[in-house]
Amino acid sequence: MKNKGDIFEVEITDIGNDGEGIGKIDGYTLFIKDAVIGDVVKAKIMKAKKNYAYAHLEEVVKRSEHRVEARCPIARQCGGCQFQNMSYERELLYKQNKVRNNIVRLGGFDADFVDSVMKPIIGMDDPWEYRNKAQFPVGRDKEGKVVTGFYAGRTHSIIPTTTCHIGVKENEEIMEIVRSHMEENKIAPYDEVSGKGLVRHVLIRKGFTSGEIMVCFVINYRAGKKDNANSEYIKGQKNLIEKLLKVKGMSSISVSINTEKTNVIMGLEIHTIYGKDTIRDTLCGLEFEISPLSFFQVNPIQTKKLYEQAIEYADLSGKETVWDLYCGIGTITLSMAKAAGRVYGIEVIPEAIEDAKRNAERNGIGNAEFYCGKAEEVLPEFYEKKRKTTVGGDDGSSLHPDVIVVDPPRKGCDEKCLETMLKMAPERIVYVSCDSATLARDLRILSDGGYNIAAIRPCDMFPWTVHVETIVLLSRV
Ligand code: SAH
Repeated sequence: MKNKGDIFEVEITDIGNDGEGIGKIDGYTLFIKDAVIGDVVKAKIMKAKKNYAYAHLEEVVKRSEHRVEARCPIARQCGGCQFQNMSYERELLYKQNKVRNNIVRLGGFDADFVDSVMKPIIGMDDPWEYRNKAQFPVGRDKEGKVVTGFYAGRTHSIIPTTTCHIGVKENEEIMEIVRSHMEENKIAPYDEVSGKGLVRHVLIRKGFTSGEIMVCFVINYRAGKKDNANSEYIKGQKNLIEKLLKVKGMSSISVSINTEKTNVIMGLEIHTIYGKDTIRDTLCGLEFEISPLSFFQVNPIQTKKLYEQAIEYADLSGKETVWDLYCGIGTITLSMAKAAGRVYGIEVIPEAIEDAKRNAERNGIGNAEFYCGKAEEVLPEFYEKKRKTTVGGDDGSSLHPDVIVVDPPRKGCDEKCLETMLKMAPERIVYVSCDSATLARDLRILSDGGYNIAAIRPCDMFPWTVHVETIVLLSRV
């Protein structure tokens, strides 16, 4: 065991789950944030355990060939990106290996077999300015000046900045307008401790294909009964709107009412104070409307590539019945609708299902149906119903899935859901995953249940972060 305060020189030989550098001294492991694989560093032990320790990067003694200058000056404090000081090529390799190793180790699959079905990760040509959504907290600095920026990793203190290189250029202009308007009009930012002050967060969204921009102010104020519908939520509101309209593409300005003492950013009550309630964006040739509250994938460029890969794996000829579980606002479901016979989507959030139905209508898609509920409950109900109709004479074939697509949250699929999928016995399963550890666990179950892994394709939706998406094609043995 090593002791707190000890300083070691160590070579970084691996990358940890949170993106930290890993080095070893006589079999004792050091986890060192911001150290890059290939670096030789001096690191000071901060917290020591029997077999490993967390250490602070004191000095880079020898720079790794993979080390680059972070584009954001605050990348280290911000914590939103973990890999800004490592080359993008090396990051992609890390992500490819992470998916592969999880499937081998946690899924218990043969390494040679996994290597034979792994496809190269889909990276970004230009991995910057990819996020279509940003949420800036608003607060005060030590001198009492209004600041906007990002929370320092795992804290609630704001690092002042109006720029974020993974966000769109317009963010900077908008946040500078908001900050100076608040200073000039003496508008108080929300204070988490006292629960006083007005402006909590500023949400900015952009439709990449439409160019439309939305700004939503999350405020700690609810208009009283006496206020009329045109009430000013923000002092000098008309003036603020005028300034924001100078930003190219500005289409929707709104406020979200959040008077609760909570970490939840958005309040559910939204009032549009300028323009439309929603902005538009297109994805895989379909048009979607996005409100301040609706879910929409944050990297539209990679989402298109991810969906195209999922569609290719679904291998549709126009006749198939497709079930899309965990469908969100139906983006995958609808992208597959044109190429399939019938598509069904299941999603647990009622508002998302409402959006999905509207999206189907807006795009003139008549062969899609959406059901609200948990996949592990709705799917078994349909399976039972189909069995009954089969017994009753009707062959129930329109409900039999040829393809099942799943895109679950990080915790993966519920066991009951996987079990039902196996009983329904589709020809192909396309598994879209944002967590390769739970993916590996679920692949084991599907594989034991009679499915072969035909292809594994990682996709980088979040450059400079540790997160990686994966698309897996399984076919029935
Ligand atoms: N496929 C969509 C959304 C994927 S995110 C897209 O690409 O945009 C995962 C979705 O699963 C979320 O919308 C979440 O609300 C939903 N979800 C979470 N648990 C669920 C469950 N048990 N049953 C159905 N949907 C669930």
